[in-house]
Amino acid sequence: MLQDLDEISDGKIYGPNDMVRVACHDCAGCSSCCRGMGDSILLDPYDVWRLTTGTGQSFEQLLGHTIEAGVTKGLILPHLKMTGSRECCAYLDENGRCSIHALRPGLCRIFPLGRIYEPHSIRYFLQKDACRITDRTKIKLIKWLDTPEWKKNEQFLLTWHAFRQSVEQYLTQVLQTEDASAARTVNLFVLNLFFMQPYESDDFYTQFARRMSTAADTIKQR
Ligand code: SF4
Ligand code: SF4
Repeated sequence: MLQDLDEISDGKIYGPNDMVRVACHDCAGCSSCCRGMGDSILLDPYDVWRLTTGTGQSFEQLLGHTIEAGVTKGLILPHLKMTGSRECCAYLDENGRCSIHALRPGLCRIFPLGRIYEPHSIRYFLQKDACRITDRTKIKLIKWLDTPEWKKNEQFLLTWHAFRQSVEQYLTQVLQTEDASAARTVNLFVLNLFFMQPYESDDFYTQFARRMSTAADTIKQR
């Protein structure tokens, strides 16, 4: 893992208070990382909460227009949709700017950083050569994340990551036994509980904790 990281990063691991060379002068007319990203900009429940409550559109209304669902390790998850011959993010406007800047997903916020999930915290690495702007300046990492209540957000990301991993593990086993209907049931449960059921606009973290506890109770009963 560390060797892989050395190949794609600048070799350093960053924490929230570290200075990191990512500030790209407001992108200066570049929109490179908003195009051709395939299905890689995955959305988590916080992203969907932010998008649905911020735009006033339901998950179903966004689906097919600006977001799509894809399968990652057997688990169905939403991701940003790329459109047209230039494969632009559906939220990229005609001037090459993000039309939902304040609501943009977490993966857009951290770019060109990547996350390293540790047991009790998240560290970051800088994907070298990922950003087209070469004369980037340093900024405190926590400021670059541009996410309020970042400690709560970090805890949410760790919980969601662990949950995803356990569901993916389960689905891999289930699919090996070719039990497609069990995999479908689990996928519908996760999609419905964490993405399709509308969120209230305030206090995402309490709503997420409630849904995680529903998921835990349901898993225990199986
Ligand atoms: S949501 Fe905004 S920042 Fe993210 S890929 Fe789309 S246009 Fe770019
Ligand atoms: S590649 Fe860098 S400069 Fe270009 S849009 Fe992405 S973050 Fe901005």
